[in-house]
Amino acid sequence: MNDRKNKVLLIYTGGTIGMVQDESGALQPFAMERIYDALPLLHRTDYLIDSHQLDRIIDSSNMTPEFWVDIATIIEQHYDEYDGFVVLHGTDTMAYTASALSFMFKNLSKPIVLTGSQLPLGMLRSDGRENIICALEIASGRQVVIPEVMIFFESHLYRGNRSTKVSAENFDAFSSFNFPSLASAGINITYKEHLFLPMPTAPLKVRKGFDRRIAVLKLFPGITPTVVQSVVRTPDLQGLIIETFGSGNAPTEKWFIDALQEALDKGVIVLNVTQCKAGAVQMRQYQASCDMDRIGVIGGHDITIEAAVTKMMYLLGSFPDDKAKVRDRLWRCLRGEISMQMTDEEEV
Ligand code: ASP
Repeated sequence: MNDRKNKVLLIYTGGTIGMVQDESGALQPFAMERIYDALPLLHRTDYLIDSHQLDRIIDSSNMTPEFWVDIATIIEQHYDEYDGFVVLHGTDTMAYTASALSFMFKNLSKPIVLTGSQLPLGMLRSDGRENIICALEIASGRQVVIPEVMIFFESHLYRGNRSTKVSAENFDAFSSFNFPSLASAGINITYKEHLFLPMPTAPLKVRKGFDRRIAVLKLFPGITPTVVQSVVRTPDLQGLIIETFGSGNAPTEKWFIDALQEALDKGVIVLNVTQCKAGAVQMRQYQASCDMDRIGVIGGHDITIEAAVTKMMYLLGSFPDDKAKVRDRLWRCLRGEISMQMTDEEEV
């Protein structure tokens, strides 16, 4: 009989979950050992837990692609030693990190679960305890192995690149509007296995190039040509995401289309993502998206803004000399981030 215990690597990056109050009452990050002080139960699990702390622990508002690379490198270096990984992360940008990691890890065959909390672990009413214990249980792969990057928060397990932070107040802080949760935790953890990404047959590939030279332009009624033009004319811009209305609609005025055309003429890749939480961009459904479609703006389908930002940076970083490939991969489903058949494209 094989009595090998499953092993999980717990990676601490910062965030409220590991914060304490300083003399002024402001929340500051603290060192990893405090997590075990606050949660002695961790010593009693049926699987083994090792921990690793980033050299610099941060409030996730300071998150950058360099930190994504650090997190991915730790996981990559220890990939064969562990059955799964839990990343403790601030909630503010957790959905961005989960999305970024999902693109970086092609052919992922082990679970990577991000979690955090709305109240510090040391506080009596903290939601952190439950979140960490469930995230570890899921990452241990004892019941089922989910080959995905996920977020566990307040009894829901979401696909990472489908999630969004929706509340700065409630414990139920995340949601996934365009894709159902992968599991829910009550008395039992109930998994919806039919929703999981397929187990890959090819070996893991980790890509770490990100190009930060992108911008997000959120439209609003009354937006001026000056604002749009100043974004479009950002020096060295490579990618532009426009957050449009409804099913991907934008002003039809000539100055607006001209500004986008100017960007496209310079080789900037322009992606249309809806401001709506649920539903998808459908280019040409209304007159108000026909001109964008005609000039070469790409429809983002039902991608979240977090996944759009990270996918754009990732593809520009992966194919620095081939904009045609970036454009082509942008509208395809690479890691389950949009509601479309996944591409089996080898290169991404
Ligand atoms: N500002 C914190 C962070 O994202 C909030 C949290 O952890 O919930 O790091």
